[in-house]
Amino acid sequence: MDAEFFRAWLTEAASVVESQRDHLTQLDAAIGDADHGINLARGFSAVMAALDQASTPSPGSVLTLAGTTLISKVGGASGPLYGMAFRQAGKALGSAEVADLAALAGALEAALAGVQKLGAAREGEKTMVDALAPAVGALDKALAEGARAEAALSALASAAAAGAQATVSMQALKGRASYLGPRSVGHEDPGAASTALILRALADVAGRELGP
Ligand code: ADP
Ligand code: MG
Repeated sequence: MDAEFFRAWLTEAASVVESQRDHLTQLDAAIGDADHGINLARGFSAVMAALDQASTPSPGSVLTLAGTTLISKVGGASGPLYGMAFRQAGKALGSAEVADLAALAGALEAALAGVQKLGAAREGEKTMVDALAPAVGALDKALAEGARAEAALSALASAAAAGAQATVSMQALKGRASYLGPRSVGHEDPGAASTALILRALADVAGRELGP
């Protein structure tokens, strides 16, 4: 997977975030302050603009630019957290011209570690970690079993979606939703939902560009 592949991922993610903007904002309206979709749509549109302006010759440079842009353009909790995730992933990929599946898995592990370092959320606390952590686990498992990239990334996306769905029954213990206490139960976490969308975009681009 080369820089072009990673740009295609972010382009697909930007498009999905834009089309799901109102849905994500509605999820945040239930347990937060109704800005998650707006925040992310603004951030990903800034990422697209930044990618248009700058030269990003390597997968690592694509993800690092995305992370830096998200940090500077997105307010709220999710901007710094997503920014950290993409920056750590970019750093893990370094300046290599291509990333294989193992490198991508390592990058996503670094993203998860970055999110947890910054936000101190563990699994089960109803945050984006509840989508990202099982996704990373599923990718590692698929990799260990020798799966091809499209299948492994499809497993990643499915685990993220299941993880996001599982946040419905959780009580929020981190972020704004935690102020609601038990009343946060019964709603999907917006950040977990957006993480699942962004990782589904990765799987979709892999399915399209890497072939079955
Ligand atoms: P804000 O909560 O500041 O309005 P957003 O609405 O954009 O920011 O993002 C909210 C999402 O951020 C939550 O749904 C949750 O997934 C994520 N989040 C909040 N705090 C944390 C944290 N400490 N660790 C991980 N994710 C978090
Ligand atoms: Mg919010």
